[in-house]
Amino acid sequence: MATGKIGVSTNDLFPIIKKFLYSDHDIFLREIVSNAVDATQKLKVLATSGEFKGDTDGLRVRVKADKAAGTLTVSDNGIGMTREEVEKYINQIAFSGAEEFLAKHKDDAATIIGHFGLGFYSSFMVSDRVEIVTRSYREGSQAVKWSCKGDPEYTLEDVEKPERGTDIVMYLNEEEKEFLEESKINALLNKYCKFLPVEIVFGKKKEWKDGKQAETDEEQVINDTNPAWTRKPSDLKEEDYLNFYRQLYPMGEDPLFHIHLNVDYPFTLTGILYFPKITNRMEIQRNKIQLYSNQVYVTDSVEGIVPEYLTLLHGVIDSPDIPLNVSRSYLQSDRNVKKISGHITKKVADSLGEIFKNNREEYEKKWDDLKVFLQYGMLTDEKFDERAREIFLLKNTENKYFTLEEYDNLVKAEQTDKENQVVNLYATDAVEQYSYIERAQAKGYDVLLMDGQLDTHFINHLEQKNADHKYLRVDSDVVENLIRKEESRPSGLGEAEQEELQAVFSSQLPKEGGMYVVNFEALGAEHDPVTVTRSEFMRRMKEMAAMNPGMGFYGAMGDQYTLVVNTDHALVKKVLAEEQQEMGPKLEPIQFEIRSTESKKAELDALNKDKKEEEVPQVDKDRLKEYEEQIRNMRQQRDQLLTTYGENQQVVGQLIDLALLANGLLKGEALNRFVKRSVDLIEK
Ligand code: ADP
Repeated sequence: MATGKIGVSTNDLFPIIKKFLYSDHDIFLREIVSNAVDATQKLKVLATSGEFKGDTDGLRVRVKADKAAGTLTVSDNGIGMTREEVEKYINQIAFSGAEEFLAKHKDDAATIIGHFGLGFYSSFMVSDRVEIVTRSYREGSQAVKWSCKGDPEYTLEDVEKPERGTDIVMYLNEEEKEFLEESKINALLNKYCKFLPVEIVFGKKKEWKDGKQAETDEEQVINDTNPAWTRKPSDLKEEDYLNFYRQLYPMGEDPLFHIHLNVDYPFTLTGILYFPKITNRMEIQRNKIQLYSNQVYVTDSVEGIVPEYLTLLHGVIDSPDIPLNVSRSYLQSDRNVKKISGHITKKVADSLGEIFKNNREEYEKKWDDLKVFLQYGMLTDEKFDERAREIFLLKNTENKYFTLEEYDNLVKAEQTDKENQVVNLYATDAVEQYSYIERAQAKGYDVLLMDGQLDTHFINHLEQKNADHKYLRVDSDVVENLIRKEESRPSGLGEAEQEELQAVFSSQLPKEGGMYVVNFEALGAEHDPVTVTRSEFMRRMKEMAAMNPGMGFYGAMGDQYTLVVNTDHALVKKVLAEEQQEMGPKLEPIQFEIRSTESKKAELDALNKDKKEEEVPQVDKDRLKEYEEQIRNMRQQRDQLLTTYGENQQVVGQLIDLALLANGLLKGEALNRFVKRSVDLIEK
């Protein structure tokens, strides 16, 4: 028996391997099984070139656990190794490979994608001792056993091994005995080896017998050697794609679309991506895209490899060209990865474009689920934004779908304002905003439905990209003012009348639940007497703030509403007439005093209008101040009288409450008051 030392500079290698990524010891099995698979693949290559003349039919990898002996063994019938090859590939190459890997990544090992590169020596993460029993495919080869206890010393001896191939025998250390459990091994094989290209056998097939699971004599193959993404798209049917999805995510709901990726130049990339149906957000996040390298599972965190918005997709990407033993931060600057990411983006946009073009009906049917992906992509990826613009759909409140261009053509004629901006009206809740939608439609406008989670952001995005367009929610103003086609219209009231009505209506504004102001508009006799509107700008800022902690200022502000009083409405006219009749005589002297003080002040202002501040005589300054104060006081006095009057006007309260009610803003005590008052008014 020969003994030897693996290297000189390596005394600290094994302790590091053992400690390496404590939480991720699992990967050793992937590394060892991948080596075994490689060994069988190499034999196939040798067979094709004629160098190996034997049979390559029954190539397999077997995983076996022996609890009594405390060993986990991975066996293959691949090319095997001669003594010289063990010396070279295990003692020198593999070792220095592992050494180099650890030296490079000691500190950032956790960020290495899938921890690739450690190879054979990763078996020492879980083993006290590892043996390699191997016999080369070459005729008349002598089998050898290499044995190492996790220190630089190893032994190498001749042994008997009738069959070609390699057994890697791992003597698991005390803390790692869980890797002898059938369920644990099954879980690992299922995670890492499910799609390896050579059959992996573990245990026996089971079947239900007399209400119990019983082992059969048949070996259990745990993998699908020919997964859908490795096959030609032309060989696959819709059903195959669906079945593959179910294989990947047994609990998931069937997806909307799939995209088959298949590139071999300038990089190799295969895979299938699926657009999932968003019925359950948890599901979306749990079922992630899986990254493979030549059918070996690497990771399901593909951030940095595909653009962020595409991480919402499901499926598989397989590319041996993605460098795996680099840190994630490096990955993002890797040119190959950038190309791959760019390709995926283009392919996703192209595929959607094709479905849109060839089967618009299907596309529209699935649009509600697709929308959020496109929005996310368009918001975060300039390139994708350009590509997706033509296939982005707007949906209106009648459930019709339009591209941006189609919609523009639909509304341009009716909905262009005096600044030549096309105003797109939208609702965020077709039920809550029903009355506003109806009024807008009655006026010949179309109303979009924008009820998605990203819609507020997306509307901003569309406005930024196209200054000729603006978006307004239907309740952001009264319908006459939503799309202003002429200069502002008169309110239909004289100055004094307006001031009086202002005080009367303000007396019954809600004291809680937001800030209210009163406005007057002549909206026509048919329009509701009072309408509540909500400023587009403030509302949007608030909504954005809710999703964006940096905008806390807007988030903290109360809601702002405008109570628009329609001066053309008979009831409003009646309120004014009654007020004038009742309050006229009382207000007359004050109004008269206000007017005359105002005109005295105006005279004085006129007298000094061309003088500089320091040339105005002090007496005049004092008198001006006095007038101002008198006017302020008299106004206050007047408003006080009107407020007291207004507070007792049931009709005013009723009109305001009806408007609030139409917006779902009347609640609790206020609602109760409204109900009582309504009964009261009916009894009258
Ligand atoms: P890598 O697989 O990246 O080359 P490893 O450390 O995993 O690095 O393995 C080193 C070498 O040992 C392999 O390249 C291969 O030549 C040899 N080897 C490992 N496992 C086997 C096996 N099961 N059969 C034949 N050769 C093997």
